[in-house]
Amino acid sequence: MSNLFYQAQGRRPVLEQARGVYMWDKDGKRYLDGSSGAMVCNIGHSNPEVLTAMRRQMEKSTFGYRLHFETEASERLAQKLAGLMPGDLNRVFFVSGGSEAVESATKLARQYALASEQGSRWKVISRAPSYHGCTLGALALTGYTPLTAPFAPMMQDMPKIPAPRAYLDGLDADDPATGHYYADMLEAKILAEGPESVLAFIVEPVGGASTGALVPPNGYMERIREICTRYGVLLIMDEVMTGAGRTGSFLGSDHWQAQPDIVVMSKGLGAGYMPLGAVIADERLVVPILAQGGFAHGFTYAGNPLACAAGLAVVNTLEMNGLCDNAAKMGETLLARLNGLMQKHELIGDVRGKGLLTAFEFMADRDSKAPLPARLNAHQRFVDLAYAKGLIIYSRRTRDGTEGDHILVCPPLIVNAEHIDEIIEGLDASLVQFSQDIHS
Ligand code: PLP
Repeated sequence: MSNLFYQAQGRRPVLEQARGVYMWDKDGKRYLDGSSGAMVCNIGHSNPEVLTAMRRQMEKSTFGYRLHFETEASERLAQKLAGLMPGDLNRVFFVSGGSEAVESATKLARQYALASEQGSRWKVISRAPSYHGCTLGALALTGYTPLTAPFAPMMQDMPKIPAPRAYLDGLDADDPATGHYYADMLEAKILAEGPESVLAFIVEPVGGASTGALVPPNGYMERIREICTRYGVLLIMDEVMTGAGRTGSFLGSDHWQAQPDIVVMSKGLGAGYMPLGAVIADERLVVPILAQGGFAHGFTYAGNPLACAAGLAVVNTLEMNGLCDNAAKMGETLLARLNGLMQKHELIGDVRGKGLLTAFEFMADRDSKAPLPARLNAHQRFVDLAYAKGLIIYSRRTRDGTEGDHILVCPPLIVNAEHIDEIIEGLDASLVQFSQDIHS
C-alpha cells in the first residue's frame, strides 16, 4: 500500500527520467509527453540551461524570506515579465501555483477597490464552464460542477455567464456577431448584479481543461474589454495555462486587442522545474494599495529565489529558441492533422485550439452534437488506451462537467514535425481500438 493519496484512478508506473518531449518509467518504457504534464512543461523536460541556472542559484541561496531580503532572482524575473506585458502591467507579485495566483489577483482587485473608494465592488464574474483553481476562493470562480458541488456551502457563490461555445450552439465563430452575442451576456450580468457591486471579470483567453481549448469567437475579447471599461470592472486574464507561449504568443490574450488589468500566470512559467506563479498588475492598481500600507496578503514561499531563477531561465529559453513561434507553427500542423483524424474517425465531433493548446471532442452524432453516453467514461478510457501505447494526453468531461468528453493534445513547445507524426500515429491507433471497444 502507498501512503500517498490523490485520485481513485489506478496507480501509474514509477517515473524514472524525462528528457525533451519524452519520459521513461522504471521498466524502461518510453512515453511521448503529449500534454506537457498538465500543460506545464512548455520547454520540455530537463533543459540543461534551466538546470544550470538552478544549480547556480542553489549554490548561492535557496530561500530568503521576502520580509527580510530582496533577492536578485525575483527582481530579475519581475523585470523580465514586466517587459513582456502589454501597457502598464509592470507590478509583479510571485506565488507558487495557479490557484494561489488567482486568489491573489482577486484579493488585489478587492484591495484596489477599497483603496480607490469603490468599496461596494466585490463580485467577480466568471464563465461556466471554466477552471480557475481548487482553493475555496478560486473554486468560487470555477464553473465546473464536479469540482465545485461538494464544496458549495463553503464558498461565496459568484455570478457566472456561459462560455462562448459557438460550436455547440450552432453559431458561426468567425462572425463577429457571434462574439458580440456572448460578450453581451457579460453586460447583461453586470447590469443584473448592479454595476456598483461588480469588481472584476475573470477569463481564460483560450479555454483550458474545462472547455477543452475553446477559442473565443471573433469579436468576443475586444467586446469584453469594452464592457469592462464601460462599467469600471477589472479584467483579469487567467493565463495560468495559456501563458508562457502555449498558444503561440507569450500571453494568450496577446492575440486580441483586449488588454487586461491583471494577468495571472503559473504552469508554463515554472515549466515543471519549480512551483511558480505570478500576478502581474497594472501600475495604477498597485500605487493606491501601496500608498495605504501595502497588499494585505502573501505566502511564505512567494518570490522564492530558486523558483524565480528557474522561471527566468525558462522565459529566456522560450525567447532564445523562438518557442512561441514554434508553438504557432507546430500548432497549425497539429490542428490540421487532428482535423485529418476527424475526417477518418466518426467519433470526433469537433477539433479546436490555438498554438499548442489543442483538443478534440467525442460525439455520438455530429449533426445533433449528442455526446457519447456518460457511462462509457470515454475520456478516461481513451487516455488509458493512448497511455498503454506510450502517448500521454489529458482529458476531461466537457459540457457541464457531467457528460461529453474532450481530449487535450498539448505537447511541449519544442516539438518538431516528427514528434507530431508520432502523436498522430498514437492517437490514430488509439482511436481505432477505442472505436472497436465501444462498438463491441
Ligand atoms: N487557472 C487555470 C486556467 C488552470 O488551468 C489551472 C490549473 O489547471 C489553475 C488556474 C490552477 O492552477 P494550480 O493547479 O497550479 O493551482
